Order: sequence, then structure tokens, then C-alpha cells
Amino acid sequence: MRALVLNSPGHLELAEIPVPVPAAGEILLRVRAATTCGTDLKAFRRGHPQIPMPGPFGHEYSGEVVAVGENAPFAVGDAVMGVHSAPCGECYWCKNRQENLCESIMASKVLGSYAEFLLVPARIAGKNVFRKPEGLSFDEAALLEPFACVAQGIIELQKVGSLPAQSVLVIGPGAIGLMFVAALKRLGVPRVVLAGRNPARLVVGAGYGAETVAFADLKPESKTEFDVVIECTGMPEVWERAIDFPRRGGTLMLFGGCPGGTTVTYSTGRVHYDQITILSPFHFGTAAVRQARDWMAEGIDFRPLLSGVRSLEEATATFADLEAGRGLKYVFHP
Ligand SMILES: [Zn+2]
Ligand SMILES: [Zn+2]
Repeated sequence: MRALVLNSPGHLELAEIPVPVPAAGEILLRVRAATTCGTDLKAFRRGHPQIPMPGPFGHEYSGEVVAVGENAPFAVGDAVMGVHSAPCGECYWCKNRQENLCESIMASKVLGSYAEFLLVPARIAGKNVFRKPEGLSFDEAALLEPFACVAQGIIELQKVGSLPAQSVLVIGPGAIGLMFVAALKRLGVPRVVLAGRNPARLVVGAGYGAETVAFADLKPESKTEFDVVIECTGMPEVWERAIDFPRRGGTLMLFGGCPGGTTVTYSTGRVHYDQITILSPFHFGTAAVRQARDWMAEGIDFRPLLSGVRSLEEATATFADLEAGRGLKYVFHP
């Protein structure tokens, strides 16, 4: 089968590799759609600790089951969508309802969705793969994983009582920031403001009901306005500026993961005397995946996030486009 392999940063190869055979509990998918992701772009640019090189590339997917191992939870012919990891259910963190921090969350992860076929390990097939809702296209269904990250963020905000809220500022109009806007509007947050630099992306946010503003035009004096601020850029300098914007007693959620080894500095007075709650959730647990699936089945429309269909041959050009800020997410039909 044809599969995209990331050999080293910037170097993708369209390789011919054997079609995997599912063992007990595993399923083999004919990939119908595989979407690009900010994590993939990071790996393409500079490498990523969770993406070994050389190695199979791509982790967002939807597809049709074409072969199953013994006792697999799906049958040949099922149309499915899923994410690329699942918690063990047995470690300290899983037992303490922090599945997103499971010590082996990445142990059986799926990589290699930019390929004709994808083998899904038993743990993931059993916990985090679902039948695709009828009304959802394969292209949209491939977005379950990034939306599960967003759903985890929403769940964390609900857990500490920061949602419901009257006003939320989302900084960073990439796919994740836009998904937050869509989810927050769905939850009925009256005022969602989206700040960023890329005008085309801000237009997409306006389509989801956000007020939009250029990031440079955000003034610290607007700091009384927002109950919750969600940082979605993964840039340390934006993490530092973001604390200017929650109201006293408000919440700052630092959502975008920054490059390894970076640090930020905060005013102790701001954190303490203004009592800012700081959250920074990582990854997602099974509840978030199910929440994301439910919202997608109920009709949150993510088609505006898809910037076009590309062939595997165009992969290098596609990531160059993403690097240049052209497009949000591209979809491969391997
Ligand atoms: Zn992703
Ligand atoms: Zn665990």
C-alpha cells in the first residue's frame, strides 16, 4: 500500500509498504479521509517527541473497516471515526479520573493515517473508535481527534466552574481556536471574541458567531471583560500576554503546547490578588472523545475548517502551505 513516511523534518516520502494484518481485537481500515493537524506541522518543521522518525505519518482519520481480528468490536463494512490513543484504565491517573494523563496513553497510539490502510490497535478500537454518524461526511468525521482535545478543555473549564460564562476570549484562530468558538457558541456563551493575526481565519470565526479582533489591537484595559481566556497558539510570548485579559477572579486556560524547554513569567500580583485560575489541560480522556462525537453527530459544522482535498503526492507542498499560513486543515483521500 502507499503510505506517507516522515523521514526527518521537512522530508516526506511516499513509500510502498505491506498492508498490516489485524490481530485479536484490532481493526484494519481503508482510510477514507485523513486530515492535517498542527501537531503534524510541528513534526514536519522541527520533529516531535511523540512522532518517531523515520516513521508513518498522520493521526486523524475516518474510514471503512476492511478486516478484523478475533473479537474485534466492529465488523467488515462499518464506517467509523476514531482518535489515535486510548487510556489503559488501570494506572494511577486512569483510576483518579485523569485518563488524559494515563501513563501509557501514547503506548499504543495510531500513526500512519496518511496511507491507504490503517491498523487500529485493540485498546483504541475498543474505547475510542465509533460508528460514523450517517449525516457526517468522512472528511468531517476525521476531525474527531482535534475536537476531542477541545472537548477536554471544555470539560476542564466546567469542572472548575468557569463555564457557563458570559464572555470568553479565544486567542489564536487556528483550527483548535475555531473549534473552541463553535463549541462555546453551541454551549450558549453569549459573547465569544476571537483574536488573531490571520484575517482569513478570523472570518471563519465570525461565521461561528465570534466577534473578531486583531491580536495587536487587544488592549490590557479590556481585562475586565472576559470571564475566561483560552490561549490556542502554543507561543510562550502569547502565553505571557494572555494573562492580561481575564477579569479579576477569571480563568486563563493555556491550551496550545509550547516548544520544549520554554518558560514564561507572570506577575505574582495578577495571579494572586486578581485570583486568576490557570488551567493547562493536555490531550483527552474517553469522556471528551464521546462528547466530541455527540456534538459532531448533533450537527456542529466543521466544513469551514477544511481548506481542500490533496493527494499524497502533494504532501510536501501541503505542509509548506500550512507553514505559510495558507489554509486551516487539508484532507487527504489516500
Ligand atoms: Zn491532531
Ligand atoms: Zn492509564
